[in-house]
Amino acid sequence: MRLQGRTAIVTGAAGGIGRASAIRFLAEGAKVVLGDVDESRLMATAAAIGTDETVLAVVADVSKKADIDALVAAAVGKFGRVDIMLNNAGIAPVMDFLDVSEEIYDHVLSVNLKGAFLGTQAAARQMIAQGEGGVIINMSSINSGLANPNVATYAISKGGMNQVTSTAAVAFAPYGIRVCGVGPGTIATDIIKGAFTERAGMDAILARTPMGRLGEPEEVASVVAFLASDDASYITGETIYPDGGRRVL
Ligand code: NAD
Repeated sequence: MRLQGRTAIVTGAAGGIGRASAIRFLAEGAKVVLGDVDESRLMATAAAIGTDETVLAVVADVSKKADIDALVAAAVGKFGRVDIMLNNAGIAPVMDFLDVSEEIYDHVLSVNLKGAFLGTQAAARQMIAQGEGGVIINMSSINSGLANPNVATYAISKGGMNQVTSTAAVAFAPYGIRVCGVGPGTIATDIIKGAFTERAGMDAILARTPMGRLGEPEEVASVVAFLASDDASYITGETIYPDGGRRVL
């Protein structure tokens, strides 16, 4: 029970990795606040994974500062504090570079990059006020360091997110707040089912994955839980890649 007595916020919590991370946080003893734009899946997730004593669900769009601030305020209102912030909400449109409209560019950057920035700011403000440190984790991607033109906006946003992680780590280290990233390879969730409708695309991914299989959301959640715990007490500014070896191929 490494997270006993702590409160964790998870954005994008109705989906695969966010949901798995929330389940893992609960198993490690934390109270969990779930945020997502998809109200019906959010409420179903909250009901499925916990009780009123352990879980709070808040509809929140991470690209809106008012929603992020309300999410943090709701966590403090219900559980009295915020110790862990998992900026996990993300979208990944697949399209040719030249097909990316200004609207799509702005939308992806707003959700993936601005969302992580605003979530980091809001959580850090609360953690500094509490005066007992904390951990902020940004859900990056292996694509943060790959040049895949079919997911250009996604890759751009995740590359920027790694800079949110490293700059915030330096800014908040004096307050005992660690800021880390997790950069999964290809994990079997809805975002991937949406991105790869053709078997050929999936086979190409698997061919570039030394372990020869997709990852499971729980295999990302275990890295998240490690970083959130005191077992990672000397790690900050770092993004860790659960990717079946893809980054080194
Ligand atoms: P998913 O689509 O299953 O879940 C994403 C969740 O984010 C959904 O519940 C969705 O409703 C929510 N969301 C979307 N826009 C939002 C917004 N504006 N505000 C709040 N919530 C919003 O996908 P997933 O695979 O679980 O992805 C979670 C994170 O992991 C994403 O940041 C994604 O980029 C990252 N990631 C996933 C993979 C993968 O292979 N699945 C690999 C690398 C990184």
